[in-house]
Order: sequence, then structure tokens, then C-alpha cells
Amino acid sequence: MAKHTVTLIPGDGIGPELTTAMTRVVEATGVDIEWEIAEAGAGVMDKYGTPLPEHVLDSIRKNKVAIKGPITTPIGTGFRSVNVSIRKELDLYACLRPAFSIKGNGARYDDIDLVIVRENTEDLYAGIEFEQGSEGARKLIEFAAAEGAGRILPDSGISLKPISITRSRRIVKYAFDYGIANGRKKVTAVHKANILKHSDGLFLRVAREVAEEYRDSGIEFEDYIVDATCMQLVLHPEWWDVLVLPNLYGDILSDLAAGLIGGLGIAPGANIGADCAVFEPTHGSAPKYAGKDMANPTAEILSSMLMLKHLGETAAADGILGAVRAVIGEGEKVTYDIKRSVTGSTDGCVGTQEYADAIIARL
Ligand code: NAD
Repeated sequence: MAKHTVTLIPGDGIGPELTTAMTRVVEATGVDIEWEIAEAGAGVMDKYGTPLPEHVLDSIRKNKVAIKGPITTPIGTGFRSVNVSIRKELDLYACLRPAFSIKGNGARYDDIDLVIVRENTEDLYAGIEFEQGSEGARKLIEFAAAEGAGRILPDSGISLKPISITRSRRIVKYAFDYGIANGRKKVTAVHKANILKHSDGLFLRVAREVAEEYRDSGIEFEDYIVDATCMQLVLHPEWWDVLVLPNLYGDILSDLAAGLIGGLGIAPGANIGADCAVFEPTHGSAPKYAGKDMANPTAEILSSMLMLKHLGETAAADGILGAVRAVIGEGEKVTYDIKRSVTGSTDGCVGTQEYADAIIARL
């Protein structure tokens, strides 16, 4: 029996070719791993009547660890994002998105090493919404007026922003524990507490309480307003270490951080819960590149690096990161997006699998 059994969700669009490149790299490290393949997305709708069949979730629950390719959310079909559903069903409350520079990839900066810890389950993403003109919206508007909370125009649609003590505490504790386990120095809580007193204000209050509990951990704590954070991230990306954020700010700032390090093609991610963890790149299924052997598998491969760390396979994880750095640093066998960032042209780029071959050769 293999030492690790991992659920593999190939996804769609560029997902299958990226996960093929990724599994080849992981297997080349020599780690004893068995992939339990579980298909999800629009392609399984006809067979199972749902894009996220229960056996896929059961496989993740059983193996506790999964890695996936991106999955398209078709517009107008009415089915919820499979990616969001997986996070919700398994209560994967922490979205971890490390952003670190890889020299030679043409990014604007080469000295970034920060980690975004995004709360994954509440805030404006809780999905509690009232459509403009609905009975619910009308009642809520009346209620707000009767409570003296404020006047909402009658033709408004409304999305609620719940932020709880329980989940704020859980995510800030996760950020500190991650910091301790990974030799980090500082946790910054990012918020808009000056305006949103009862949601972000609560998040900040809880973050300060948790920071107090970790006072002897050696990890410094600070808080920052989200708009100022955006500006300072661009001006001084080297200042930042671990940032912990409510869901929406976390989503936006992780793409900002991906931009700082050279784009979506190299930004890995993980969704972590108390029982299970699902690793996936930050980017989507890029349908226009599907099946063309062009897409950059780095984000998928670095997601496997995070997965191997999670599994305690540190040497294999370090080996993969070293090989990725070496191949990108040399700049010869890189995919079109990196070639273009560095030289201004895609001439001389290689395909997805040839890039993976170059990484395997450097392991
Ligand atoms: P996207 O990330 O798929 O692509 C945007 C553009 O970024 C692409 O056209 C391409 O130019 C570039 N790009 C992305 N990944 C790349 C890679 N690996 N190599 C090279 N270039 C790359 O974003 P989108 O077009 O907004 O989304 C497409 C679909 O993916 C949507 O249905 C969306 O819902 C879904 N999505 C899925 C996930 C996920 O599975 N977690 C995340 C985001 C979006």
C-alpha cells in the first residue's frame, strides 16, 4: 500500500494537462503516493446529475488530502461553483496563498515572500443575498428603517456581510499557528474597521485578543486598513509577512499578490480545514488554452509542493521548489507566459509537458 493516498481532481479546461504535469513531477521525486482520481465539474453532470458527486467529497473525506485542477463555473446554468462548494462542504476555512518571488520570471519585484491567509467561509461570500424587488429585500429595508439603522433605497439588492467571533478567532489562530510552524515573524490583520464597525470591527477586536494569547510566540502583530495595505503592498511588497483577512479582502489581495510575483500562472494555493486539505492553483480553467499544451503548470506544481509539505514530505517539497527555481532562473525551457514577460515575445517557449520534463530533470 502506498504511503499516501491523495484524491486527484483533474478539473477541466487546462486542468487535466496541468495535473498530468504535476503528477509526473511529484512521482519523479520518489514519494510513495497513490492518486485516487475523482472527476467533478460540468463534464460529470450527465452521468451523476450534479457537478460535485458525493463520492468525490467522500474520497476527500477518506484520504484527508486532495489536489485539483481548476474547474469552470459555466455562466447561466444555475449550478454553484464546484470550487466554492468543495470549500463549503468540507469546511475548508483557511485559504492559504503564499506569494514568493521566483527570480527570472519577469515579475516587477524579486524580493517578495508573503503569505495571504484568507477566511474562506463567511463575510460577503456567505451567499446570503436578497434580490432587488424581492419580498426579502423589502422586509429587510423596512426592518433597517424601523431599527433606525439607516435608509436603504427601495430599489436596492442586498448582500449580507456576516463576520462571527467564532470564525474570526479560528482564522487568526490559524495564521499565528502557520506563522509559528513556518518560521514567520509577523502577522498583519487587514480590515476596514474604521467604517465597518460591527463586522470588520469585530474581526479586528478578535484578532487583537488572539494576538494577546500569542504574545510569547515571538510573532509580532499589527493591523492595517485594507486600502492602505493595497498601496503599501505595491510600494513596499518586501514589508509584509503573513496577512490574515476576511473573505472578500483575502480574495482581492491574493490576486494582487499573485500580480506582484509575476501572475496567476505561478501562484499556488491551499484550502485547509480541521479534517481535510484541498490544494489548487489560484488561477481558473483558462478555456482558451485548453488542450493546447501551452498553459503554465507552475501554480499547479507549486500547489503540490504545499501538499507535500502538508504530508510531511519536506525533502520532496524542497526538491520541487528548487527545480522550479532552477528552470525558471535559466529561462530556456519556460512556457509562453514567462517567456513573454521576460523577453517581450513568446519565441523559444516550450509547452506544458516539456517544461515539466525540464523540472523533472533538475530534481
Ligand atoms: P483564468 O484564471 O482561468 O484565466 C484568465 C487568464 O489568465 C487566461 O486567459 C490566461 O491568459 C491566464 N492564465 C490563467 N492560468 C494560466 C496558466 N496556468 N498559464 C498561463 N496563463 C494562465 O480566469 P477566468 O477566465 O476568469 O476563469 C475561467 C474559468 O475558471 C471560470 O469558469 C471561473 O469560474 C473558473 N475559475 C476556477 C477556479 C478554481 O478552479 N479554483 C478559480 C478561478 C476561476
